[in-house]
Amino acid sequence: MAKPNQSYSLVRRLRGILWAMFLVPLLAGVAFFLLYSSSALQKETHRDLTATLSLQRQFIEYWVGERAQDVAYLASDPRMLTLPPDSLRDMLHGLQRATPFFDDLVYVDENGLTKADAKHPAGVDVSDREYFQVTRRGQGYVSDVITSRTTGAKIIAVASRVQDAEGRFRGLVFGSVRLDTLLDLLQGMYSKTSSRTFLLDAKGVLLSPAVNPGKPDEKPLRSLHAGDVVFDRAKAGAVSSGIYRNHNGDRVVGAYSWVRGERWLLVGEKPESEIMLLHAGILGVPLLGATLLFLLFGPMALRLARSLEEPVRRLEEHSRKIEGGDFDVECDPEPTASDPMEIRRLNVAYCLMVERVRDTLDTLRQASLTDHLTGSANRKLLFQEGPRLIDADLRAGMPVSLLMLDLDHFKTVNDTHGHAAGDAVLTAFASLLEQQVRASDIFARVGGEEFVVLAPNAGQAAAHELAERIRVAVGALRVGFGEQTLTITVSIGTATLGAEPGASRPSGQRNGLESLMAAADDALYEAKNNGRNRVESVSIVPVPARG
Ligand code: GH3
Ligand code: MG
Ligand code: MG
Repeated sequence: MAKPNQSYSLVRRLRGILWAMFLVPLLAGVAFFLLYSSSALQKETHRDLTATLSLQRQFIEYWVGERAQDVAYLASDPRMLTLPPDSLRDMLHGLQRATPFFDDLVYVDENGLTKADAKHPAGVDVSDREYFQVTRRGQGYVSDVITSRTTGAKIIAVASRVQDAEGRFRGLVFGSVRLDTLLDLLQGMYSKTSSRTFLLDAKGVLLSPAVNPGKPDEKPLRSLHAGDVVFDRAKAGAVSSGIYRNHNGDRVVGAYSWVRGERWLLVGEKPESEIMLLHAGILGVPLLGATLLFLLFGPMALRLARSLEEPVRRLEEHSRKIEGGDFDVECDPEPTASDPMEIRRLNVAYCLMVERVRDTLDTLRQASLTDHLTGSANRKLLFQEGPRLIDADLRAGMPVSLLMLDLDHFKTVNDTHGHAAGDAVLTAFASLLEQQVRASDIFARVGGEEFVVLAPNAGQAAAHELAERIRVAVGALRVGFGEQTLTITVSIGTATLGAEPGASRPSGQRNGLESLMAAADDALYEAKNNGRNRVESVSIVPVPARG
């Protein structure tokens, strides 16, 4: 039979299935996340950034427009032309103090001299400045981001024309708008998002502060130039959600938005790691599901597998012993109450089968060693058990004797009274012999009307005595058959081995039995020759030929 392969055991297979149940959804989740979800997430992030930037762009444009209107409103105030310079300066100073957006408010006369300045002394000639030139020619002016000559801060210069009732140019109102207030407002609006937005001018020069005071640990920003991916994209007007390395070397998804025509550039970026982290929850669902399934059904399934495997293993072990010829193994028909019903039924049926096979074998074995007619042992049993008995006896230093018995003129019984009568005589003779011998003796029918008694621990005298007793008893036996009463006599030859002075020992067990039988047969022949119904005994057993 093929050796059972351990790797195909129930529990192992089931464990494999459970791992598959756990790992397949997990791996599927990871694969989905990597193959589909991450690119979808990049697109979604890009959309969010673009929407944010669009709002910020609108806010900036609205806010700058508001400041231009503030200045235009001031420029249209008739007091600009009527108030004396000192009062005008006080008025501008008050206004500048009242609104945090303006760094300074100045009235410049038609000659380009500052007439009233909220923060600085008047009388400065600004006629050469661009805002003066432009405003004198037209209505209003909003500069790019410039650096203030007086404070060094980044500002936007806003100017609006002052004119008299006839529409003649009478100077301008100039306001320097502090950019950091705008950036602070933007920062406040979107500080909760993990993305980072910053403002550049058209050349890529950073207008936002390099370090966000609210998040000092963030890597500092710097100006962008050709070669920086998002800057190149903005210059080319390209739309892409692809991940790139930003100026800090971080992998990010980025978006941009031009502000005020193409004068300023808003850039928003979000690190890839944060996108993944934020959306890792998608992975959590299959992971959690798989873990729950595993924890919930895993132990149940394993217990079931064990409850199958254990009794099946017992049956297998059992059947292997039986395969090896050992039918005396104990089979428990109800080993464990927790075994599944089918297994218990199988177990019961199996044990019953084993029991029946064992009983049948016992019967067959018994039958093969028993004589059918008389119920006594047969020649096979004598040759199976005899040598062991003789050997044990001789080892113990004790003699062993064998009686060979043969009914006298038995043929006549058959001939005179019929075969059935002969059978009745044989049966009666066998039961008489059984009464005469000891339990430790072996008594067997070895031929038609020939019997043997193997008597351990019996010397020649004891054997002769036993034979004599049997002979007398047989002579006295009356066998009733129908209306008749039959009598018989027996001739007996005895042979004794060992433990007697001068007695030889044969070299082997089988030789011992065979030698005893041959010698006893000779003695029996003697008894027949000497007139029958008598006992002849020999004690010297000839040494059998060796080899
Ligand atoms: P002797 O005194 O020389 O032993 O004479 P005998 O007639 O007993 O000798 P023999 O061995 O010639 O005869 C044995 C007879 O035993 C022959 C046979 O018919 C008879 N016999 C053998 N087995 C059975 C049996 O099972 N039943 C019956 N009824 N007779 C049997
Ligand atoms: Mg005979
Ligand atoms: Mg005979």
